[in-house]
Amino acid sequence: MSIKSKLKEIYFKAAALGRTIPIAQHALVLNYHHIVPAELMEPNLLFGYSHSIENFEKQMEWLLKHYEPLSEPSKEGGFMVTFDDCSLATFENATPILDKLGIKGHFFIVEEALDQILWIDKYFCWISYVPFDTYTLNKTTFTITTDSDRKTLHSLLWKMIASGMPAGQLIELMNNSYAFKELSDIQLKLKKRLQCLGKKEIQALIKGGHHVGFHSQSHAMLSTLEETGLKNEISPHEAFYTNRSFAVPFGDPSAYTPKVLQTLIEARYDPIFLNHSHAPSGPVYGRLNLPNTSSSAGMKYYIQKHFETQS
Ligand SMILES: [Zn+2]
Repeated sequence: MSIKSKLKEIYFKAAALGRTIPIAQHALVLNYHHIVPAELMEPNLLFGYSHSIENFEKQMEWLLKHYEPLSEPSKEGGFMVTFDDCSLATFENATPILDKLGIKGHFFIVEEALDQILWIDKYFCWISYVPFDTYTLNKTTFTITTDSDRKTLHSLLWKMIASGMPAGQLIELMNNSYAFKELSDIQLKLKKRLQCLGKKEIQALIKGGHHVGFHSQSHAMLSTLEETGLKNEISPHEAFYTNRSFAVPFGDPSAYTPKVLQTLIEARYDPIFLNHSHAPSGPVYGRLNLPNTSSSAGMKYYIQKHFETQS
């Protein structure tokens, strides 16, 4: 355990002192992305929202000890486990744990990414692994000489997405500046983290009693789309969904507007999941992203904070 994690553990224990396990006033909806072997994880943006297999299993066991597993969020209390994007690593590593523990997961699919690398993963892969050098994107020159420069570049590029640049256009600019194919060794090594599952895996999930919901056509930032673009983005072409659930891409407050939520409600999606703490409102629910920890004091701390924010 590093000094930083030891200090965090002390902080969590102090913060949780005297507190009992938070009562699930509403369903506790958890969101995960990539469940990967610990030895594959690196401290970069690509793995920023991943969990090790071991920590994921410990979190599921802890949750089961304290809450009842639910299949829908509208029931009082209990917990629900959702996955956005759904890489092969998540399918291969998370489902055996869920099956062993008798938990049914909700998997949210981006249709254009089936059997492909989702653009956001290409984006994080590029930012995390391009060699230290100077790059020109959209007539602007950036120099990467430290890992912290990578984070600065991410915030600069993210402004382009947030102001409406289509993801495909940004990926093309990145590819022109440093070709993705130059990162093929990394892509091969991280194949299961990067590649999304396909129809074969979706059928296996359904056969196992898990739930499959929609996470948009291309994982666009819905808040930047005009009405027709928004309607196309939230209209599925596939017929494998097990219910009318929808997880808003990115799901943070900048990724949707009241108009986006209204359009989803009019399209009869229920439940609709965001990706931050948010009190349930009609079919709209917030979700909690627990950090990659196995500490029960840590889990207690984050769940408590989540309920405090949404009550
Ligand atoms: Zn997503």
